[in-house]
Amino acid sequence: MRRVDKYLIINGTIINADSAAKADVAVSGGKIESIGKLEPEEFPDYEVIDASGKYILPGGIDPHVHFALPTPAGNSSDDFVSGSEAALAGGTTSIIDFVTPRRGQSLVEALALRRAEAKLSHCHWQLHLGVSEWNPQVAEEVRHCIRHEGIRSVKAYLAYSDTIGINYGELEQLMHVVGSEGGVVLVHCEEGEMINRMQQQFISEGKTNASFHALSRPREAEISAIKTVISLSELTGCPVYIVHVSTGEGARAIREAKQKGLKVYGETCIQYLILNNSVYDPSLPNEKVLPYVISPPLRPEKDRCQLWNELAKGAFEVVSTDHCPFNLHGQKDLGINDFTKIPNGAGGVEYRLRLLFTYGVLTGKISLNQFVSLTSANAAGIFGWSQTKGRIAQGYDADIVIWNPDATLTISAQNQLQHCDSNIYEGLITQGCAEELFTVKGRLVNDRR
Ligand SMILES: [Zn+2]
Repeated sequence: MRRVDKYLIINGTIINADSAAKADVAVSGGKIESIGKLEPEEFPDYEVIDASGKYILPGGIDPHVHFALPTPAGNSSDDFVSGSEAALAGGTTSIIDFVTPRRGQSLVEALALRRAEAKLSHCHWQLHLGVSEWNPQVAEEVRHCIRHEGIRSVKAYLAYSDTIGINYGELEQLMHVVGSEGGVVLVHCEEGEMINRMQQQFISEGKTNASFHALSRPREAEISAIKTVISLSELTGCPVYIVHVSTGEGARAIREAKQKGLKVYGETCIQYLILNNSVYDPSLPNEKVLPYVISPPLRPEKDRCQLWNELAKGAFEVVSTDHCPFNLHGQKDLGINDFTKIPNGAGGVEYRLRLLFTYGVLTGKISLNQFVSLTSANAAGIFGWSQTKGRIAQGYDADIVIWNPDATLTISAQNQLQHCDSNIYEGLITQGCAEELFTVKGRLVNDRR
């Protein structure tokens, strides 16, 4: 990796959320200096890069990753170094991770500790502040972090009610605080109590294998939570960002809320667009199911198709990954005899752009402009980077991906940069790749085509 100095990218096609045009781009000091028909003679000390036949895209922004997330099964298997390297290889130049305080821990302290870890990242980063309980001190600390620590997004979980989740009444109070401070609340929408009851029932009946993970988290648990959270947003006036939507009906509720003029943002993840619940077939060996234990779980094929339809109709601002891998051996397999002990999550930050390009753009489901909206521009707008990232324009950060639309790759745990001994996309063939990439942190030449 070299330090960015001065580059002239010629003959490429710039794709922004709202435009597409052939133009050259001059980069200097980590910023986009100028755009247009630029003559190399006028930029004598610039390294010229020929992007003929390639797209010039704003660097990807993945606003939902969990690097080094502490769990009873150990940390998620990518830390900020390996996770950010995997992100860069896949064309994602900025990530947003989370502060996940323990109950009783000061949010300000948890934020400082997490920032120290995130500084190791090789790509740009910021953090969403999480809350795992609700009381007057938490309220005060949320206010403090928004006013004085540069936080603008606060995450709450309705699931995991016995460890970090909060209830609807507490969420409503959080939304009052964050809304009045001009922030946005992110919500994991799954009914925690419903899931707890179903988990306990399955375990008591001896139904312990990984397939029951999905059955314990029904579609209704998500749909009902999404609808309630939308009504709380209407009540409080606080903008909400609903993370990792996995159901078609949930997506439709979000789209209809937007049509009513509510400030409801929707996010789905690439795995819900690519995979379905056939991976949980009870006839499969338990070990084959473990890698797919994620929350919310993968859904029936009908939902997967509806998510694509809703994506095209504008239900979602963002396609993220919820990147949170755990090794099959030594982590996921700790729950081989009890699905409630399997750490939830899977990796994908390395493959988000490739998968969305292959299965979305190349199939005609979304346009190239939508591809940019969903992978960078909208997240930049929602999370405070609208003046610096998510757009190829003069004065913006030189977070640039030169995208080769023809290069193909077969995804495999064998050739991934993600630190994990399995890959939920194993064997899938993708087309398109981030061939070269610029950020103010350096220039990466991707030779893993
Ligand atoms: Zn997550």
